[in-house]
Amino acid sequence: MSRMKAFVMPQVGSTAVVDKPIPEPGPNEVVVKTTHALICTSDVHTVGGTLPVEPGVTLGHEALGTVHALGSNVTGFAEGQRVAVNAVTPCFQCRYCQTGYTSQCGGPLGGYQYTAQRDGNMAEYFVVPYAKGNLAPIPDVVSSEAAVYACDMLSTGFMGAEHCELRIGDTVAVFAQGAVGLSATLGAHLLGASRIFAVESIPERQKLAETFGATDIIDFTAGDPVQQILEATGGEGVDAAIEALGSPITWEACLRVIKAGGRVSNVGYHGEHPEPLQVPLDAFGLGMADKTIRSGLCPGGNDRMQRIFALIASGRFDPTVMTTHTFAFDDVETAFDYMANKRDGVIKPLITF
Ligand SMILES: [Zn+2]
Ligand SMILES: [Zn+2]
Repeated sequence: MSRMKAFVMPQVGSTAVVDKPIPEPGPNEVVVKTTHALICTSDVHTVGGTLPVEPGVTLGHEALGTVHALGSNVTGFAEGQRVAVNAVTPCFQCRYCQTGYTSQCGGPLGGYQYTAQRDGNMAEYFVVPYAKGNLAPIPDVVSSEAAVYACDMLSTGFMGAEHCELRIGDTVAVFAQGAVGLSATLGAHLLGASRIFAVESIPERQKLAETFGATDIIDFTAGDPVQQILEATGGEGVDAAIEALGSPITWEACLRVIKAGGRVSNVGYHGEHPEPLQVPLDAFGLGMADKTIRSGLCPGGNDRMQRIFALIASGRFDPTVMTTHTFAFDDVETAFDYMANKRDGVIKPLITF
């Protein structure tokens, strides 16, 4: 058996399941036999043509499984062991990595290598590059169904909260409660926010936001969310706002809803709209309101993964509540269609192999 099935993008706008050779590991690589994966809206964006990728490239960047084959330089792992890798796989050697910006490995957004620079991992087998830095063992007490959320959703959402530089008791607004926004809400809760405003109109997502620590649900269909949050805080606004949608409207709302001295943390992907993001001068205090804007891309690496696994193991939250649908890999194209067209209230479709 030297062939495998892979979910690929033959060209912009189309997907297919094709046969590919099972990859062989290079000296510093590991090949993983996939057991679980999640489809991401980033895959949908990629198929929509947002990344200049090779035709036929394998999609996916949120997957885990068991060690199939170890490269000659990789020690500390055994064949058959349960392992995961983050969506972002830095080299940990270049200047960006050495200065702490591992997600920007080699250049802007360069840590995002699956699909963008190499085959992704929505396939029966996949390669983990720079495995010593990127391959993470999954603790026995953490299920694969939960661990797969560390690959992107929890790491990205937690980064959104971390970039707010929260102090105990800070107030936070999180704009949109998809899987990343929900994870950002959870991150703000874990970091000690006293009040978390979750901006969302879909009842199922509102409920999950409360499960993850939101104290106030702001339904933007009931009025301007900035006004609602300003009223709820006595006109003061919040210490930090997290943009988890990728829209010019929520971007501007974040700048308007924070106090002087506040922080905007952007995790939303803004490639879906052509116009530049605006910084309204009044909300920015004409450039002098001590407001900070921070952007970022999912932090990778095995230390990051193991920290998230330790949190899952602590039992303080259950990420699998974000799994709204489960499909066998044979039905991956149906799962992708659910994600692309937001069918049936989908948040995250889990793929089992
Ligand atoms: Zn993703
Ligand atoms: Zn690097």
